Amino acid sequence: MIPDFVFRLLRNLGLWVKFHCLREAKPKDQCGTSERGMRMPLELLKYGLRRGHKPYGDIPPTPDLRRSYDVVIIGGGGHGLAAAYYLSNVHGIRNVAVLDKGYLAGGNTARNTTTVRSNYLTPPSIAFYKEGVELFETMSQDLGFNIMFSQRGQLTLAHSDGAMRSFRLRAEMGKHMGTRIEVVDAKTVREICPHVNMDEGGVHEVLGGLWHEDGGTARHDAVAWGYAKRAAQKGVEIHQRTEVTGMTVRDNCVTEVHTDRGTIIAGQVLQAAGGLNGRIGEMAGIPLPIRCFPLQAMVTQPLKPFLDILLSSSNLHTYLVQSSRGEVVIGGSTDPYQLASTRSSLPQKEALATGALQLIPFLHNVKIMRQWAGITDITPDFSPVMGSTPLTNYWLDAGWGTWGFKATAVAGKRMAETIATGRVPDILKPFALDRFERFALLNEMGATAAGH
Ligand SMILES: Cc1cc2nc3c(=O)[nH]c(=O)nc-3n(C[C@H](O)[C@H](O)[C@H](O)COP(=O)(O)OP(=O)(O)OC[C@H]3O[C@@H](n4cnc5c(N)ncnc54)[C@H](O)[C@@H]3O)c2cc1C
Repeated sequence: MIPDFVFRLLRNLGLWVKFHCLREAKPKDQCGTSERGMRMPLELLKYGLRRGHKPYGDIPPTPDLRRSYDVVIIGGGGHGLAAAYYLSNVHGIRNVAVLDKGYLAGGNTARNTTTVRSNYLTPPSIAFYKEGVELFETMSQDLGFNIMFSQRGQLTLAHSDGAMRSFRLRAEMGKHMGTRIEVVDAKTVREICPHVNMDEGGVHEVLGGLWHEDGGTARHDAVAWGYAKRAAQKGVEIHQRTEVTGMTVRDNCVTEVHTDRGTIIAGQVLQAAGGLNGRIGEMAGIPLPIRCFPLQAMVTQPLKPFLDILLSSSNLHTYLVQSSRGEVVIGGSTDPYQLASTRSSLPQKEALATGALQLIPFLHNVKIMRQWAGITDITPDFSPVMGSTPLTNYWLDAGWGTWGFKATAVAGKRMAETIATGRVPDILKPFALDRFERFALLNEMGATAAGH
């Protein structure tokens, strides 16, 4: 065993070397790195070596598992934690355990590119995501936790007449449902984002765009930690490194949830397991119409602020957003084949870089700092599956694919309501699992194609 202080020393030395190398690699004017920033590793080193410093305590350490809980939530991502928050803070249900096989919100919640928007196509989706955006608008105040919501608007570019036609339809649907959305011409695109390459006369000429003023971005880990902190304060137990390995089903009911730390008797069970939802569904004996595809993203070195909107292009399968740290986050479509893996790949990096350079050519000299992937759970109609199941005490919050971060709050709120009352609210009914048997699909493929 390495003593704790040696471990901290090695870790902080590693950080120092990393920062030092970065400074050597980057010309100062490009990345705006300050001397003050460079002192940070030394401060960290001192902090790490200080004796007896207390760990940051927003949530208590994982407790022992109890024998039974009123509600067991499988998955401690944003969705599971939000549901725990609403159950405990709004419905007074506090005997709740959130189980996660890894660390808090380390699944897709940690990996997503944080687009929040409601510019979907079908009325049920627009109504649902609109409520989701509204909850983001007040989340920092509601949780007393700064989630850094920045409602800067999202611009999706059209490079073809077909795209303009589909944008008109989405804009009309959105306006009808009360969201801020409009089709704009090429001149207005240039005004909203002067850096966009209009490619006049080229293959990717920008003909116009879909301007969605409600669109924004938030800090993903703050959202998860905000919900976790408030739920834990009300008595919810958050069990990290606790993997669900199976379930006992009797008389159409899940009676026990098996984990690698023991077996729990569960009153009700909520499944919110992100990319692994298909596998968890199998454990409960519920086959789900879900397939796993990796979804990748990457960030550049930090730049001075230049991009004050969310920019995307469905033709190029690329979107960009500049983070509060100045890094340009670049994302796109899923990998073209099914795989339950979080490895990133060179072809996807090249594809994202090609799209980004087509949209903003002056990025050509900028360095890519990190690339990563998540496992996304995709349904045939690119819409989630929420609500009841053939089991009487088992509820689903699944099929969030590439688009579920924006729904963290609304899904948590509405799933908690469902569990607390035993009734699926109207707003969730169109997302029921049996829609695939009834051929009542909610096709959102076009609206999820870029800028998730
Ligand atoms: C690269 C990328 C970019 C994205 N960009 C966006 C975006 O811009 N906007 C947007 O709205 N959405 C986006 N998404 C999608 C979004 O991240 C997800 O839909 C959302 O985070 C789902 O949240 P969740 O809580 O349901 O799942 P997760 O955050 O994945 O949480 C599920 C948890 O379940 C746990 N778990 C799994 N199996 C078990 C088990 N057997 N036992 C116990 N725990 C288990 C996992 O460890 C995980 O922590 C993106 C996704 C990726 C990968």
